[in-house]
Amino acid sequence: MKKICLVLALVLFLPFVLIGCGDEEKLNAYNIVAFFNEEEKTLKCNEKVTYVNNSENALQELCFFVYANGFDEGVKAVPTSYNNRAYPNGESYGNLTFESVFVAGQEVEVMLSENKNILKVDLANTLYPNEEVVVDLNFTVNLANINHRLGYGNKACNFGNFFPIACVYENEFIKNDFSPNGDPFYSDVSNFKVEINCNKDYVVATTGDKKETISGENKKVKCTANKVRDFCFVLSKDFQIISGKAGDVDVFYYYYDDENAQEHLDTAVKSVIKFEKDFGDYPYKQLSVVKTNFCFGGMEYPNLVMISDDLADNDTENYVIVHEIAHQWWYGIVGNNEFQNAWVDEGLTEFSTALFFKEYTDYGFDYDIVMNNATESYKNFVRIYSGVYGSLDESMNRNLNEFATEPEYVNCTYTKGMLLFESLRQTLGEKKLIKCLKEYYKDYAFKNSSSEKLTESFSKTARINLESYIESWTNGTVVIR
Ligand SMILES: [Zn+2]
Repeated sequence: MKKICLVLALVLFLPFVLIGCGDEEKLNAYNIVAFFNEEEKTLKCNEKVTYVNNSENALQELCFFVYANGFDEGVKAVPTSYNNRAYPNGESYGNLTFESVFVAGQEVEVMLSENKNILKVDLANTLYPNEEVVVDLNFTVNLANINHRLGYGNKACNFGNFFPIACVYENEFIKNDFSPNGDPFYSDVSNFKVEINCNKDYVVATTGDKKETISGENKKVKCTANKVRDFCFVLSKDFQIISGKAGDVDVFYYYYDDENAQEHLDTAVKSVIKFEKDFGDYPYKQLSVVKTNFCFGGMEYPNLVMISDDLADNDTENYVIVHEIAHQWWYGIVGNNEFQNAWVDEGLTEFSTALFFKEYTDYGFDYDIVMNNATESYKNFVRIYSGVYGSLDESMNRNLNEFATEPEYVNCTYTKGMLLFESLRQTLGEKKLIKCLKEYYKDYAFKNSSSEKLTESFSKTARINLESYIESWTNGTVVIR
């Protein structure tokens, strides 16, 4: 249908082609109204999803990933070694309970998978290509007392991945599972309208543009975020905010305790400037860097990154800020299945972070030393783990829950991923590699990439077939010396 439309338009109304019948897909739209109950630590939500069938197949059902159930009893939310950092007051659990689900106004049965990670919604009427349907979800998120993406700590409440999000459809729905390692997420760029209701004393950091009103004891925050692949917010009564500008992008820094706040804001501003120069425009008006109770180093969301308030030192904090901001380009604007191909965003993000410190040398991270240390660390990992287990799987394109240990995940994804891009830099030259990154960004902005798509895009720009080169890294056969 789209092709016919284009041909006719080309002949008859050329000037209108770009506006009316371009390549732009209609995006899924999420409209969420959420009420935070401070005493109970619950978030009661109504979520209306206008789902657009952008595939070529007729659909009989839709699937949603319910990450909030990853905090339920019996599910491991963090690697065991993180238990002390994750649980400020002993182990605690949370989940998401559905009150009702409607499809096109008709109530349907709530059907959750065994792990409660996937909600399946049967459609009464077949959804044909380019058609849309409204799914209405009523649910309550019960927060765990955990310093995690979703949960409350001693200072702040984090609301990452709090709502059921449509699984990406690639001839079937991609149903990610929970994983204590990595970011088990994959979603399409969508448009969001989210209303958050909470006590007036909360300072609220969010994805998107926001407008706040206060009435009595209540604060209402209305957010609009277009062309983003997720929505996140963080609440704290103790947040202070400082801000700066990276060109026309407003950069905010939320923190409750930081004697180097201005330095961290400056790092964030410089990161946006550097990555816009190297990769392409940051296509949103604002970015919030939020220092919060979080057990890992940091976490990326569109327009908002979480930085742990529990990092080892100031250098680490600057490093994490740069890393999470690089994710705005690699994960946020250019998406990929983080469950299946985590190296695609993590490897590129680590490499981008190293490029930042190559330019801004006053932070004390020497680029060559970073790469040498990464090489040595990877070689040690191979030596030690091969010794312990007899053999070692060094492949990179694996599901998160197929990595046997956390070091295996970190080394095969972050370290080896970064070294792959460093190897390309040495082979192609830095100028050509930056060109590859710019073109890759253009090719996949607001879309989903993959290991294969990245290889194809780089090969096209470099004018060399890089397939076997990159594959030798991803399938684990390359020997790192
Ligand atoms: Zn990362």
